[in-house]
Amino acid sequence: MKKTVKDIDVKGKKVIVRCDFNVPQKDGSITDDTRITAALPTIKYLLSEGAAVILMSHLGRPEGEANMKYTLKPVADRLEELLKIPVIFAQSPQVVDEEVKKKAESLKAGEVMLLENVRFRKEETKNGADFAKELASLADIFVNDAFGTAHRAHASTAGIADYLPAVSGFLIEKEVKFLGSAVENPERPFVAIMGGAKVGDKISVIRNLLKKVDTLIIGGGMAYTFYKALGYEIGTSILDADSVDVAKDLLETAKSLGVKMMLPVDVVCGREFKNDTETAVFSCDNMPGDMMGLDIGPETIELYKKEIASAKTVVWNGPMGVFEMETFAKGTLEIAKALSRTDAITVIGGGDSAAAVEQFGLADKMTHISTGGGASLEFLEGKELPGIAVLEEK
Ligand code: AMP
Repeated sequence: MKKTVKDIDVKGKKVIVRCDFNVPQKDGSITDDTRITAALPTIKYLLSEGAAVILMSHLGRPEGEANMKYTLKPVADRLEELLKIPVIFAQSPQVVDEEVKKKAESLKAGEVMLLENVRFRKEETKNGADFAKELASLADIFVNDAFGTAHRAHASTAGIADYLPAVSGFLIEKEVKFLGSAVENPERPFVAIMGGAKVGDKISVIRNLLKKVDTLIIGGGMAYTFYKALGYEIGTSILDADSVDVAKDLLETAKSLGVKMMLPVDVVCGREFKNDTETAVFSCDNMPGDMMGLDIGPETIELYKKEIASAKTVVWNGPMGVFEMETFAKGTLEIAKALSRTDAITVIGGGDSAAAVEQFGLADKMTHISTGGGASLEFLEGKELPGIAVLEEK
C-alpha cells in the first residue's frame, strides 16, 4: 500500500502537488473543469492541515517550449474561483526561475501557488534530473495526484521523487483502490468488457485480464478481427489485419484457461460510415460483403446484459459500437444502462467508455470512473505505473 497525504505530517511544510489540469479549452476559456474540481479534495486537505501548497501540471503539448497558447493562467483563475482564496500564478517561461523560487520561499501555510505548464521545459518529458531537482527545491514533500500521467516517467511525475519524500493524493489513492482491487482481488463472478476500435491497442490488457476474469465480453470494432480469426465474412468492417493471429491465440488462451469469452452474436451493419446510412441487423456468421458492422445487435445486447446482471465485479473499457453516431450508440448505451442498474462493483476504464457514460448521464451510477485513459489501460495490463511506483510504501 502506498502512503497518502493522510500518512504524513504536512503542518508548516511546503508541499508540491502534481495535478492533472490538462483541461479542454475553447478560445482561451475552459470548457470542462472536471479535472480541476477532482483535484480540490487533496488541495483543500493540505491547506486545512497547515501546508503551503505549490501546484504543477502539464496542459496540451507545447513540445518543450514556452507557448502561451498552453499557459496555465486560465486554470489559476478557475482555481481561485473554486477555492475562494487567492492563487498565486508563478508565470515563468522557465517554470522554475529565481523569481519563482522567491515566491515559493515566501509562501505561507494556507496559501496556494500554481507553477506554469511543466511541459514548457524540454526536460519534463525526458525526466531530466536537473529539472526534477529544480522542482523539488521549491518544497519539502511531493504529492502525486495526477493519475492521467502516472504511466509516464516524467520529471514532475516520477523524477522529482528522487529528491523529496513522495506520497499519493486522494485521486491516485482512489484509482489504485478500485482498479487495483478489481483486478487483483475481485468479487466473483468477474466480467471484463472490452471494446473500441482495434485489438492491437489492447492485446496486453486482454492477455492480462484473461488470467483474472471469469468472463470476457468483446464488442466494438475489435470484434471483427476476432470474426476474421474464426473465418467469418466481415464485409467492409474495420479490420486490424496485423492482429488476426493474435486474436486466434487469445481465443485459444481463453479456452485453455476456462474463461468464457463472448463475441457478439449479431451486429448492426451500415452501408457507409455515417449516421444516416442504410442499416440492417445480421447474425455474426451471415454478414454481407458490402456492409460494415458498426454496433452490437439486439440479441447480443440481451446476452451481455444477462452476463452483467450475474456479475459481482465488472470492468469496462471501450465502446460497443460507433457511439458518437446516434444510429450506432444503442449497444454502448444499453451496456452502460446495465452497469448502472447492477449492484456489482463497476469500474470504467477512462477514455471513450468514460466519455460514453458521461454522455448518457450515468456517471454517478458507477462505482468508479477512472480519470486516466492510457494510465488505466496500463494498470489493467498489470504494469507498474512509474508515477505510482516512486511513492513511499506504508
Ligand atoms: P478505442 O480508442 O480503441 O477505445 O476506440 C474507440 C473508438 O472505436 C470510438 O471512437 C468508436 O467510434 C470506435 N468504434 C467502436 N466500434 C466500432 C466499429 N464497429 N467500427 C469502427 N469503429 C468503431
